[in-house]
Amino acid sequence: MLLDLDQGRLWVFLLGLGGFAFLEALWPAGRRRGARGPRWLRHGALAALNTLVMRALVFVPLLLWMVWLEEEGWGLVRILGLVGIPELIFSVLALDAFDYVWHRANHRVPFLWRFHKIHHSDRELDVTTALRFHPGELFLSGFAKAFWLAALGPTPVAWFLFEALVSASAQFHHADLRLAPKVERFLRWLWVTPTFHGAHHLVDRRWGDRNFSTLVPLWDWLFSSYAAPPGPLDERGEPRAFGLPEGRGHTDRPLALLLGPFRGLNQRGMRHVGPLHRSRE
Ligand SMILES: [Zn+2]
Repeated sequence: MLLDLDQGRLWVFLLGLGGFAFLEALWPAGRRRGARGPRWLRHGALAALNTLVMRALVFVPLLLWMVWLEEEGWGLVRILGLVGIPELIFSVLALDAFDYVWHRANHRVPFLWRFHKIHHSDRELDVTTALRFHPGELFLSGFAKAFWLAALGPTPVAWFLFEALVSASAQFHHADLRLAPKVERFLRWLWVTPTFHGAHHLVDRRWGDRNFSTLVPLWDWLFSSYAAPPGPLDERGEPRAFGLPEGRGHTDRPLALLLGPFRGLNQRGMRHVGPLHRSRE
């Protein structure tokens, strides 16, 4: 049964990647300006490395951890006696809330930002941006999630469902995809859309330190970190830029992406690597 779920998750990932790449070609929003090929190669290689590392170091241990927690009867889900559909809804929402808090911490804590900024150093956005994560970030988030899983005690089915939703949602909200404005404005209340999350990738920190949600935007409304996404052009009529603030630390070379978090570790002060514009948090 766990193997079936694992296969299902893989299919969601592959179909999502292909599906959103196809939709991007039909209705591009102009968030990707350069060629597709190098992005697919670069981000595909990073994703392959991440899959290898993560399966051994995070995915399998977390799964074993969850089976053990279930046998021992740990977690809020069991204390509340939730089963079936209510358990799935509760667990998925609670895991999404964890992702919101963790994502916000990634922008706030200098050590975590060192890894997360590799994702943000992309100056364009398309479905492959959803693959651009440093293995260190994924490892750290897996480690933190182990504690949350112990407190929550979701069933493995809920966890697989959550992971599949995160993978599809990340592909959707990073995609270079233009939705009809009416559809987007409505959907934005229920689910994180490309425009909602695109604002989070803007160089302009009025938006760049906002909109942290992964699945449902509810968390940004609840915790006052929502900023309405701006139009595609800035005050001077130029396309709004994506990436790190002030053009710092941008690179697309795979090795440089992997070494990025370890640059300047011996520097005093975190000015060049620290999270920016904390005052808005
Ligand atoms: Zn972020």
